[in-house]
Amino acid sequence: MGVLLDLELVHWLDAGERIVTASERAARALIAAYGQTRRGRGEAAWATPRIEPWQRFLESAWTEFADDARMVLNSVQERALWSAIVASGSELTATLDASRARLGALAFEAHTLLASYAPHLLAHKHRPSWQGDQGTFSRWLDAFDDACRADSLLSSTRLALELAALLEQRKNVARPPLLLVGFDRLQPAQRTLLDAWGNWQAFELSACSTQTRFYAVPDERTELGACAHWCSRLLRGCPQSNLLVISQDVARNRGLIERAFLEEAASSRFEFSLGVEISSTALVRSARLLLRWFTEPIAEHALDWLLASGHLTANAEEQTALQRRMRRLRERGRQRTEWTLDAFLKEHSDAAVPAAWKERVGAARSLLDAQNGSQQSSLAWTEFVPRLLEAAGWPGGRAPGSAEYQIQRRFFEALDTCASLGFVTHKSSWSGFVSLMERILDETVYAPESADAPILIAGPAEAAGLAADAIWFLGATEDAWPATGSTHPFLPLAVQREASMPHAHPHIDWELAEAVTRRLLASAPEVNFSYARQKNGVEAEPSRLVLKFAEAPQPLPAELRPVPLPEPRTVVCEDAGPIPFPAGGAAGGSELITNQSLCPFRAFASARLGARDWDAAEAGLTAAQRGTLLHAVLHSIWSGTPPGIRTQAELLALPDRTAFARTHIELVFERGLPSGARERMPACYLALEEQRLAVLLTEWLDCEATRVEFEVAATELEDTPAIEGLSLRLRLDRIDRLTDGTLLVVDYKTGDVTPKSWALPRPEDLQLPLYAAFGELEGDVSGLVFAKVRKGKPEFAGRVGKAQETLLPGLSARSALVKQPLTGEQLMDWRGEIERLAAAFVAGDTQVNPREYPETCERCALPGLCRVRDFPPAMNAEDADENDGEAADA
Ligand code: SF4
Repeated sequence: MGVLLDLELVHWLDAGERIVTASERAARALIAAYGQTRRGRGEAAWATPRIEPWQRFLESAWTEFADDARMVLNSVQERALWSAIVASGSELTATLDASRARLGALAFEAHTLLASYAPHLLAHKHRPSWQGDQGTFSRWLDAFDDACRADSLLSSTRLALELAALLEQRKNVARPPLLLVGFDRLQPAQRTLLDAWGNWQAFELSACSTQTRFYAVPDERTELGACAHWCSRLLRGCPQSNLLVISQDVARNRGLIERAFLEEAASSRFEFSLGVEISSTALVRSARLLLRWFTEPIAEHALDWLLASGHLTANAEEQTALQRRMRRLRERGRQRTEWTLDAFLKEHSDAAVPAAWKERVGAARSLLDAQNGSQQSSLAWTEFVPRLLEAAGWPGGRAPGSAEYQIQRRFFEALDTCASLGFVTHKSSWSGFVSLMERILDETVYAPESADAPILIAGPAEAAGLAADAIWFLGATEDAWPATGSTHPFLPLAVQREASMPHAHPHIDWELAEAVTRRLLASAPEVNFSYARQKNGVEAEPSRLVLKFAEAPQPLPAELRPVPLPEPRTVVCEDAGPIPFPAGGAAGGSELITNQSLCPFRAFASARLGARDWDAAEAGLTAAQRGTLLHAVLHSIWSGTPPGIRTQAELLALPDRTAFARTHIELVFERGLPSGARERMPACYLALEEQRLAVLLTEWLDCEATRVEFEVAATELEDTPAIEGLSLRLRLDRIDRLTDGTLLVVDYKTGDVTPKSWALPRPEDLQLPLYAAFGELEGDVSGLVFAKVRKGKPEFAGRVGKAQETLLPGLSARSALVKQPLTGEQLMDWRGEIERLAAAFVAGDTQVNPREYPETCERCALPGLCRVRDFPPAMNAEDADENDGEAADA
């Protein structure tokens, strides 16, 4: 991105005079444009022009004019000092590290505002009546001044004021003239300094936009697409063009903008003026996690990410081996909410984890252990970190690309900043240093070096001082432009209004936005504004400010509507033929047939591809583990093996059902707890879980005691029927033999389930119908029931032939069990449906066809694999028509 260099600027620079710009980027662009001008004159060498952004101008002028030994604080150092002052106060809110940092950042902002807009209030005597939060800030400000005096420090936000005072004392010293470029508004402190300097002027852009248009589009996506398409058209016409895209909230919309511009091939050469937080980059995130992990546990999902990032492994084999170990661990139920390095190494002491990896990480850990938990200066820790990272193998075996190389350099620069905080932090422990480093990283922005892309995407303020061949201003709605914001909580509102601080009054925001709009209009011969009529589902109005400069918004012209991609020249032949499942056993048991009914792709992915849900660890037992324990206790109770029982008569003869339940619970907890649970979970938690189960099971046994006489024929029954050539492994909770000799198929449930889930077609659950229709049972099935083992509401639900005579004598005639008995036809219908589903699976049916969209998918773990969200089934017909209609309207 360059600037259209005005003749006045060229003359100014030719004369060797000084220019001060509003931003770093504007200074860079001006230097490049001036170089081009000199080259255009056929010159091979010239003196570097004196073009500096405002802050650099302050620093160089300070060095030039002041004979002062005070250390000028950079913004990170100043924030650290504010945080230390906040921490030394008595405010309760400052007791947490994160709160201190937040309050320190707020105090830093308040101080910057005061120094820039109301410098006289920096003197304590002008703040006598400040109360509450503002009074607290006033005290912190006194402490800040004391600290700066004691340690000979100077805030960089006060440089303008200090310099102005200095220049006033030396009025007779001649100073070179200054030309200011790109300033939308001068703050009072800046004006004071410039007046003290004496010889300055602001550059006014003379060029004026000749084409100004304002477009209204249906939504933000269309708006971005149109803008990208416009850039694409201009660059195809003139590849040397410089285009400027202004977006209100570049940080928030970055991903959407990137996607829209990448979709348009010719507009894919773009760059953002704003960088990203360096801690959000993979390289720095991995270093941060690793450094913390040496002494503290990290969350399991973070560890998964770290091992998959490739920044802690020497090669792809190590990376795969470690990820495989994590998967195995979860398959064995040994997941944890968080992992210490020790626990991880202990758990992975076998040969499956690469020895070289263990050796490296262990060696790095020993390096840290050798520090013996000592307190060290930030400088010492900063020098130690690269050694530690290198010993652990960070940043991995891959050769870094240009971007990674730049990020790494910026990371080490941020570390150097930590070292420069020695005057505030003094000595700290390793954990204290890591916290400090994390805070600095959170405040550090990384912007890749400019590649001089023809499209620059910037915020309205960052574009100050830049000019272009054409500009597109996105999001010109009434709510967003002028931009609004809130006042500062640490400064009295009256002070903010009187000093015209940002957002103190709507007319201040209006005036600034108007100045920015005028500047943009003067910065390119073509300026387009646009706004989306619908934003986040809410109607939006066009900006009144933009309407001052442009005609009423128009629909997008046909040439700016995104065009569909041309037909590819390659002919793609998609082989959509099904691949049959080879005859034999399939993983998944009854779940496979249920999945086939819910969605054929789900059955295919889980049974044939082995796709599984990610079973996240919990601090206590997971729901699945609690369910397994309950089933195990009920199996123990009805197994018939002492102390178990087998009949209702035995149940009725028990003297104390609670004590009986407890006995079985203890037996199961002794041998059936998930491995490692006793070490990871407190004994009192497990005792509470036993107590909970005792209450639940006593209630359940009381419910079973009210039944018509029965005998348990089998528990945890296994069977392997073959259906349509598919061999399934079934497991059933329990079979009861009733008084009439028939069988009742029982499935324990702890949630709220209903037999409606067996309704045809495409039942939601087929476990019991499958067993009733295909299980090898010794007798006729007269009922299928869910045994709902729930606190306060134990009950049976399902279909039973003669429920009152064989199950519960007290059932009312209106109960569902009586009104909807099980019939032979139902069993036959289920049988037919199951055979149809099994045949479809075997034939290789893999359709993404959820039973009900989106409800079925909300209870499925595979949307990332089937991509149903990208191509929702319901969208195919109706919504596509709707979209077509909308495009035609536009
Ligand atoms: S998310 Fe929906 S469409 Fe995808 S596999 Fe699961 S049920 Fe099928």
